[in-house]
Amino acid sequence: MFAIENLKLSYRDDGNRPFTVLELSSLDLKAGSLVVVTGPSGSGKSSLLYALSGLLNPTTGTVFHDGADIYALSEARRDRWRRDTIGFIFQDFHLIPELSPLANVTLATHFGGVGAGARHKARAASLLEDLQVPGERRHASLLSRGEQQRTAIARALLFDPPAILADEPTASLDSDASTLVANKLQDLARKDGRLVLCVSHDPILITRADRVLHLDRGHLKETTPTGNAKSEIPA
Ligand code: ADP
Ligand code: MG
Repeated sequence: MFAIENLKLSYRDDGNRPFTVLELSSLDLKAGSLVVVTGPSGSGKSSLLYALSGLLNPTTGTVFHDGADIYALSEARRDRWRRDTIGFIFQDFHLIPELSPLANVTLATHFGGVGAGARHKARAASLLEDLQVPGERRHASLLSRGEQQRTAIARALLFDPPAILADEPTASLDSDASTLVANKLQDLARKDGRLVLCVSHDPILITRADRVLHLDRGHLKETTPTGNAKSEIPA
């Protein structure tokens, strides 16, 4: 589904000097798999998710989705591509606290200027029910953290994206809530055939992973889900 070749990604520092945060010679990510990315803070994990989402133009190399170079698209087409392809689950949920869970899930329908029609409202309600979130609560801020996390998942799934990218989706959850979320993410990959790529250090999620990738200062190393080094991907 995704392929990266000789990708190098740089940011600029205080003195406007570029510094490299990601350097990947090759990476293939297949539909139907749950892939977990681990690595120390600052190793480039979030940057990898952003690069795959078409949000960070690489310095060299590119990202292919189903054979097409996503950075060759115009910005407008890349936005549409992202909306059709990627469900992004942010680390701190990015919910609007004053809106109901249901309104949070349907929020993105307003960006296209159309608003939430009956079809999207029904889909949002059924996703929330499926994820055991009380969608009719007056404010998302009234939900428990586990419920907020699952609201963020429901929102990511609204447009039925083939790829789900999640940044530490269980980081602030207790083990029961983590297990619920991990089971859902695993089903999205194994049963629904989506690509699910998560940044996570949570053993509950790592034990369910088909692949574990370790990032160290922008370089990738693949490990087996049990944590034994399998192969090193040369950078
Ligand atoms: P991780 O998610 O693994 O903690 P990130 O991908 O967020 O790492 O960041 C990698 C490195 O890039 C960090 O050193 C961070 O400080 C730096 N960084 C992240 N975003 C920017 C940015 N927009 N501009 C400059 N530096 C950034
Ligand atoms: Mg991060």
